[in-house]
Amino acid sequence: MKVIVYSSKPYDQDFLIRSNQSYQHELLFVQQGLNLETVHLAQGYSAVCAFVNDQLDRQVLTQLAQYQVRLVALRCAGFDNVDLEAAKVLGIQVVRVGAYSPNAVAEHALSLILTLNRKTHLAYQRIQQQRNFSIDGLLGFDLAGKTLGVIGTGKIGAILAKTTLAMGMEVLAYDPLKNPACEQLGVNYVDLHTLLSQADVISLHCPLNEHTHHLIDAQALLIMKPSVMLINTSRGAVIDTCAVLEALEQKRIAYLGMDVYENEQGMFFEDLSCTHTADELLEKLLALDNVLVTSHQGFFTQEALSNISDTTLKNIQRFEAGERIPDAEFLA
Ligand code: NAD
Repeated sequence: MKVIVYSSKPYDQDFLIRSNQSYQHELLFVQQGLNLETVHLAQGYSAVCAFVNDQLDRQVLTQLAQYQVRLVALRCAGFDNVDLEAAKVLGIQVVRVGAYSPNAVAEHALSLILTLNRKTHLAYQRIQQQRNFSIDGLLGFDLAGKTLGVIGTGKIGAILAKTTLAMGMEVLAYDPLKNPACEQLGVNYVDLHTLLSQADVISLHCPLNEHTHHLIDAQALLIMKPSVMLINTSRGAVIDTCAVLEALEQKRIAYLGMDVYENEQGMFFEDLSCTHTADELLEKLLALDNVLVTSHQGFFTQEALSNISDTTLKNIQRFEAGERIPDAEFLA
């Protein structure tokens, strides 16, 4: 099948080319993201392969339908950037990679927690750049005995819960759909207010949708302990970033680790070291020692990239052959 691969970086190309030896699709790699300005590149292709920050709103999808694009294959799990209703109406099928490595993201969330707590990012800078071997200002706390609050106990949240339970943490969870495996492990499901008020570390693992947009807003922040650490590896807009900055500045929360940012589009995944372009809000966050930002790299392991490539190309083949797409991968 003729497939245009938007937002493709050299690492995407490497893995997709390797996986494609088993499929022989005709792949065109473009570095640009998909939006109204770049949608014209899809003319002549039957499938579009897209990533987390590609814009698949009604306007872009309408244009794709006019170009006879029949399939959108997301090489990610989240699909908050796709207007599924519009895709259905336009007759464009949308598939995703349901699970490629929940371990990768759970492990990244844990690394943000450990780094922020023991301040290894600051220790590294001080020793590397200044030969400052003092440990003043690097005081952390034992995670064992503390309470983790997991919001969303699907594939990723469940792994983080299991790992932190093994580290001696108590785990509280909030999810409209309880995960029996988590309950068996000893996770306690509570209402959102209880989780927010009792947790020492809060980690977000729910999808972004109309119910979770700015789930962590000014009001939610007021409920939290002033010592709390907030970790977001889900989607940027699950937290109201302005409200979180204000809470950090007023010392109403103690730490923020974020792998995703609500204004990340066009910034994350790009090397902006020459232009130093980050927006004002992000610059304010980056100026704080108790904030750790990574650039949407939670998924970025060899295993995940390999699974993403295999599943994406397999989904395209299934579509071409008129075969059933597994439920976990079918979106519209
Ligand atoms: P999943 O579908 O297995 O689990 C999501 C869980 O969230 C489900 O149990 C669901 O019931 C729960 N949920 C839904 N609405 C909720 C709400 N209002 N409050 C609390 N919980 C709610 O998904 P997953 O594979 O665990 O991934 C979770 C999210 O992580 C994805 O939606 C995606 O946005 C994000 N993600 C980020 C990266 C990264 O690189 N940082 C990579 C993959 C996924």
